[in-house]
Parts: sequence; structure tokens; C-alpha cells
Amino acid sequence: MLYNYKQEIMNKLDDGSISGLSMDHQFTFECKTACMGRCCNSITILLDPWDIEIMARQLNISGREFLAEYCKYDFSPELKWPYVRLKHAEDGPCIFMLEDGRCEIYSARSRNCRTYPIGRAVRFEQDGKKIERVFMVDKMDFCLGHKCEKSWTVKEWLDDAECEKFYELSDLYLELIHYATSQLNSRVWMNRNIAQMLMPLLYGPDLLRNKLGLSEDI
Ligand code: SF4
Ligand code: SF4
Repeated sequence: MLYNYKQEIMNKLDDGSISGLSMDHQFTFECKTACMGRCCNSITILLDPWDIEIMARQLNISGREFLAEYCKYDFSPELKWPYVRLKHAEDGPCIFMLEDGRCEIYSARSRNCRTYPIGRAVRFEQDGKKIERVFMVDKMDFCLGHKCEKSWTVKEWLDDAECEKFYELSDLYLELIHYATSQLNSRVWMNRNIAQMLMPLLYGPDLLRNKLGLSEDI
């Protein structure tokens, strides 16, 4: 789903139905107290293993504990790959939303929470080359963030949210999915049961780090 979703977005960016943005594109946005937290209700927040890692560390629990307590698991029949979502945010208010609408784990929030209203799509070509595009996420009616004077370039926005280090790991995971689908033909042999068995490895950041030989410094 995560990968599939990004591919769909990428296709729309390719055919022009979504406009891509350059890093020096300017826009206005600033979160408003009047709507604070309304964006954290009944919303699908897709997570990758590194989102889970940073949130779990913030809560001082293991990635696998975070997965069990705060995530929903599903399987994409099209891509034949498992994906996870933040459980409470989908069913009502996010469990990390404080009474005043602010985020309890703000410094460890997921990439999607971090970059909104800017979205990012990544595609790996057959030769492994990475293509990256950014775009403006559809405006939500209740979101007052666009109705303000504060101006940013896309680069300033992403830098301010310290996105680069999250993207580095996130793209490694997308590359792993690309490798599994293009080289290991995972669409042929992956099914819901196998995905269930692979879940702790694919989304348990502690196990995945070991398997990929990634040190804690990355
Ligand atoms: S401005 Fe938009 S993103 Fe910010 S708190 Fe309000 S609804 Fe959420
Ligand atoms: S993690 Fe924080 S920013 Fe993201 S949905 Fe939950 S409360 Fe909102």
C-alpha cells in the first residue's frame, strides 16, 4: 500500500493530473490553534519501519511492542505486500493527540505528519535509479493552515521539519520493496499468510536493522 500509493501518486505526477513542485516553489502555511488537532482525527497515517522506530524510542518501548499496541496491519492484494497504519488515528482521535490538539510525540511524529502539506513520492527505475518528486497534498476543508501569511519554499519547509534523515531510511525500505518485487518476484509467492509471518521482520525496525546490517547511527 505504501509503495503502491506512492506509485499511483507518481503516475499522476507523470501524467500531470497532480502538479509537481520544485524545491524553490513558494507557498504559505502555518498551523492554527483554531483547528489544531482536527487533522489528527479519522485519518490514515501509513507508517514505515523507521516511523515505528522513532515513535517507539520516544515511548521507550521496542518496535515490535509499538507495532502490537499502536498499529493496524493489512495486506495489499495488488502489490502483495503488507503495510501498517496508525491504529487510533484511523478510528478516531490519534492516541498521541493532547487535549489542546497538539502532538504528544511531536519530535518523533511520522513522516506524513511531519511533512504535511507537502507530500513526496519515490520511484525506482529498472536500473535502480531513484526518482523523487514532491507535491502539495489536497487541502482539507477544515485546515486553516493555508490561510496565513507565513511563506516558505518547499526546501525551507522540509529542512525545518528535519525530513532528510527520515527520507534516507524510508527510501531504503522502498528500495527493499522494489528489490523484492522486481528481483525476487514477490508478487508471485507473497500471500497474506506469508506476509503475516514476515511482518515482525519487515516492520520490526530492530530486526530489520540487524538483517540489513544498519548500525544505530544511520
Ligand atoms: S492548520 Fe491544518 S495541519 Fe495545522 S493543526 Fe490545523 S488542521 Fe492540522
Ligand atoms: S502522531 Fe501526532 S501529528 Fe501525527 S496524527 Fe498523531 S497526534 Fe497528529
